[in-house]
Amino acid sequence: MSKRKALVTGITGQDGSYLAEFLLAKDYEVIGMVRRSSTVNFDRIKHFQDDVILVQGDLLDQISLLKIIEEYRPHEVYNLAAQSFVPTSWSQPVLTGEFTALGVTRVLDAIRLVDPNIRFYQASTSEMFGKVQEVPQKETTPFYPRSPYGVAKVYGHWITINYRESYDLFAASGILFNHESPRRGLEFVTHKVTYGAAKIKLGLAHELRLGNLESRRDWGYAGDYVEAMWLMLQQPQPDDYVIATGETHSIRELCEVAFGRLDLDYRDYVIQDQRFFRPAEVDQLVGDASKAKRVLGWEPKIRFHELIEIMVDADMEALQNRR
Ligand code: NDP
Ligand code: GDP
Repeated sequence: MSKRKALVTGITGQDGSYLAEFLLAKDYEVIGMVRRSSTVNFDRIKHFQDDVILVQGDLLDQISLLKIIEEYRPHEVYNLAAQSFVPTSWSQPVLTGEFTALGVTRVLDAIRLVDPNIRFYQASTSEMFGKVQEVPQKETTPFYPRSPYGVAKVYGHWITINYRESYDLFAASGILFNHESPRRGLEFVTHKVTYGAAKIKLGLAHELRLGNLESRRDWGYAGDYVEAMWLMLQQPQPDDYVIATGETHSIRELCEVAFGRLDLDYRDYVIQDQRFFRPAEVDQLVGDASKAKRVLGWEPKIRFHELIEIMVDADMEALQNRR
């Protein structure tokens, strides 16, 4: 039997790198879409780079998407590419809309035109719940996005459902709550804190400047969450699923755990800085993933404390190796 083929947009990102590893372990042929840059940024994928096919394309460029899908004829497309950082979505709102909202339509249209049997996964987000209308948040909770990023993702979610209903595509949307790992971008708060604490421990920094310490997130482990993406595309019918741990913790607790891992007291080092506060905040997210458990058989394995400790340990090791 010939191998199953999957196209992953955003393969150089946190989730793309874990998903590609997961699919390779399942014996998929993996095609990763990367955008052209003057220097390559393959840090997250260099250890398996030779096992995947990397092709150049961009969510802004319809023809590149059509050509890739036409040439490689994947069975599954995972659309993970996006402008994914909330603060940047205020400074670059139009670009965020182009990548994160319209980019989804471009991928869906390419699938529709080349082969409507291709299964499609859209990377939706708990940021769509924003100013939450219900606690915990589940698939039926109304959306109230609080940033241009959240607004763009609501568009991506609904266009996925619309193409499912209009053209009978197998298009699934995973509403994933925050998920982290040692490969998380350094500007996101978990990694900023674990890396900052490690630097302080090693004498490479003396303070850490953060914004709002009171907001709360439902943080899981990226390696667990990519399995849920794959499970969604193996079902008899396409659907939408919340993926979360069901636990919520504040940024303050995050600091306590990260600094505590290094026998430090975060209150001696963390400084609140207006620069890192947002024009509109998402105060509290906590997901109800019972549908994913019931239908997909999916459950998170790594919880908050363990996750943060894994990240602190990885940052300590990386910084020590650099010395
Ligand atoms: P990252 O920011 O780590 O990765 C984003 C990826 O998208 C990178 O590979 C980036 O490429 C690529 N990309 C950005 N713009 C374009 C473009 N115009 N054309 C092609 N590729 C592009 O995100 P994550 O891995 O953390 O997240 C994956 C997806 O899941 C994103 O859509 C994100 O919004 C969503 N999501 C993430 C959550 C999380 O907690 N991590 C929670 C819920 C949803 P390059 O390397 O060249 O910049
Ligand atoms: P988000 O949930 O996708 O926006 O993920 P982030 O990790 O960027 O932010 C999570 C929460 O941490 C938000 O409520 C931020 O306001 C809060 N936060 C507090 N200080 C910082 C900071 O210095 N950087 C970031 N990225 N977030 C911060």
